[in-house]
Amino acid sequence: MPKIAVVGSGPAGYYAAEAALKQWGDDARVDVFDRLPVPYGLIRTGVAPDHQSIKAVSRRYEATALTDQVRFVGNVTIGPDVTIAELMALYDAVILATGAPNDRPLGIPGDDLGNVFGSAAFVGWYNGHPDFAALAPDLSGRHAVVIGMGNVALDVARILSKTEAEFAGSDIVAHALDALRGKGLERVTILGRRGPHQIMMTPKELGELGRLEAAAPMVDRADLPDVADDALLEPGLRKSVTHLRDFAALTAQEGKPITIAFDFFASPLRLLGEGGRVTGIEVERTAVEAGRAVGTGETYVLPADLVVSCIGYRSSPIEGVPYEERAGRFANEGGFILPGLYCVGWAGRGPSGTIGTNRPDGFGVIERIAAEVKPERGKQGRDGFDALAATRGLDVVTFRDWRKIEAAEAAAARDGSPREKFTDIAAMIAARHG
Ligand code: NAP
Repeated sequence: MPKIAVVGSGPAGYYAAEAALKQWGDDARVDVFDRLPVPYGLIRTGVAPDHQSIKAVSRRYEATALTDQVRFVGNVTIGPDVTIAELMALYDAVILATGAPNDRPLGIPGDDLGNVFGSAAFVGWYNGHPDFAALAPDLSGRHAVVIGMGNVALDVARILSKTEAEFAGSDIVAHALDALRGKGLERVTILGRRGPHQIMMTPKELGELGRLEAAAPMVDRADLPDVADDALLEPGLRKSVTHLRDFAALTAQEGKPITIAFDFFASPLRLLGEGGRVTGIEVERTAVEAGRAVGTGETYVLPADLVVSCIGYRSSPIEGVPYEERAGRFANEGGFILPGLYCVGWAGRGPSGTIGTNRPDGFGVIERIAAEVKPERGKQGRDGFDALAATRGLDVVTFRDWRKIEAAEAAAARDGSPREKFTDIAAMIAARHG
């Protein structure tokens, strides 16, 4: 049976491991690497902290991780600790499940001003990702602008708008809850370069904006296309647009202190600042022609004390692995990159789809490996990796270690919350010793 290394322990990685178990049963051998000492990738640090039911899918990955055939190898970074070439020499197949952890740059003047963040950083901050725990956004201003009309923009707008009581039962980290407690926001503008029929927001998530305690959505009726045109939309999008129509019917924001304003047909031109910090955003009014946003030449400025751009993500290139610069993902054909090297999830497909989309991806790539890869006697798999790790002095964190870290996080949780995450790698590693 092929010895498999999966790089990345998020949904894509664990679905691939699960598929290997289904394919080879007791003979499967899968090592799942992660550069963090904790597993689950985007489930832990991407899915919104108030969406615990989505995060519960990690129980399924745990069942895979607890088998003898699948091993979690945490705190090992592919590149500096072990190269891809070394992994490929040790394992019959290497599957990159590294996701798309970097923000697509906004690429407009002023995007380097203070209090302007990409969603990877901002979401990572409120979710306790060690890379972004120190972000310290200033939430004291009155105006936030969220760029993009996808589900990430919705997550960010909702998190910015919730009351402390609405975070009950969530695992939002303490530093974010503290900062949100002191927020001064009155208006959160969600900026879209196209119109209501082109949003990427799914109905369940969009509907949540209509049920917030202290914030009400606002849609300008004039932006909505003729209602008869909704019939042409696919059912999910039609439901989302129906939510927008309901929001447009709300009056006087129902007396709620925060307005979540949808600004359609508005393409960001540049960010304005004072003293190095953002104060506004200049946008150009657009018209949608053949599905594309076309500038009309009319511009206006929105005040902005905080800007979060939620316009998509890019994978991190790995030396020696073909990469599609434009799409920001590994160059692949149905998950195949090079003989013995594959990819799944956002690393191969780009940042689209739900968590569940990764399941067929994982199963598809394992089917290919079963058909294409001939196990070689010389591949040492986990024994070979352990020997290499010992020579390099790598401090590998195992799944058993993770369960101790997890127990420590559960023990530190505030009332009603499932966990208080460690936001620092050293603290995570220390927690495995109890
Ligand atoms: P997305 O769905 O692709 O949305 C990106 C948005 O950014 C689009 O509205 C896009 O507009 C806009 N955009 C891109 N470049 C822009 C630019 N230069 N200027 C202005 N706007 C720009 O991406 P996402 O929100 O990051 O979500 C990623 C994936 O994760 C999606 O599949 C999403 O459904 C999923 N997700 C799901 C959940 C959930 O189910 N609860 C939560 C979060 C994320 P155009 O359409 O005009 O390009």
